[in-house]
Amino acid sequence: MLVPRRGRARQLPHFMLRLAIQKSGRLSEDSLALIRECGINFLSTSYKLKTEATNFPLEILFLRDDDIPGYVKDGVADLGIVGQNVLVEAGYPNLEVETLGFSKCRLSLAVPRADAYPSIETLQGKNIATSYPNILGRYLADHGVQANLHTISGSVEIAPSIGLAEAICDIVSSGSTLLGNGLREVETVFRSEAVLIAQPNLTAEQQDLLEQLQFRMQAVRRAKRSKYILLNAPVSALDEVRRLLPGIKSPTVTPLAEAGWVSVQSVVQEDEFWHITSQLKAVGAEGILVLPIEKMIA
Ligand code: ATP
Ligand code: ZN
Repeated sequence: MLVPRRGRARQLPHFMLRLAIQKSGRLSEDSLALIRECGINFLSTSYKLKTEATNFPLEILFLRDDDIPGYVKDGVADLGIVGQNVLVEAGYPNLEVETLGFSKCRLSLAVPRADAYPSIETLQGKNIATSYPNILGRYLADHGVQANLHTISGSVEIAPSIGLAEAICDIVSSGSTLLGNGLREVETVFRSEAVLIAQPNLTAEQQDLLEQLQFRMQAVRRAKRSKYILLNAPVSALDEVRRLLPGIKSPTVTPLAEAGWVSVQSVVQEDEFWHITSQLKAVGAEGILVLPIEKMIA
């Protein structure tokens, strides 16, 4: 086993990866869960700046999410997990190597509920408060709108009520924060999810480790999107069942002790699962069991 020596950022052994994740915030829990689901173990993370994995050559750094793109760009960290909103705002979209499917949110423009908003032209010459001046500036320019952007780092949604701006651009997930501040969403500016990013100058050994990590992350994601389904069906319904359950290649069919019945096993996608199970019942399937899949190797 390779035993990495401890060292400062640039003196890390070339066979090790340093991954930056958010210290405490909306990305933290899912980032740590993903690393664990990839089979990587590490000691408790509370109150620490960094920790080392015990069974993979990986060191985990805990940082503010806004600092992660810059650290990875400069190679202080080799990898990072960050929202596309923060990555693109920082100006380094090319660092992205893998979408991760969590922390989905959108960056939206919102105006006071009572204000008319016939089109984006309404924002011409207006004051807009945002923490995302680069993403918003590009969006407005693409739509031929010139506005005065006021960059503020927090509590953007109160800007209209204190007279700082006539509109805001901020992250929205449910919309309840907007509603609570008397605002309504009028444009989606950017859609975001968490991504894995990598510095551009990995050594060959690090590149190889990154590929191993991506392979595991993809297996975890595929598994999450899929369910294992088992059911009993009369042989007479088998063609219908096969049609409904294409599976990875084709479903596994085994005879049951009861004559004229078979057991069928397959994989279904999470988003089509309810639709498929009701159709399966309609063609005579019984005893339908649906199980989670832990890992799914392509
Ligand atoms: P830090 O202290 O690290 O700077 P922060 O306050 O800037 O944290 P968080 O609120 O923890 O950031 O959000 C981190 C990221 O999570 C955001 O940049 C975005 O990508 C995503 N995110 C934010 N709000 C939501 C939401 N409501 N639902 C899902 N994802 C979100
Ligand atoms: Zn932040």
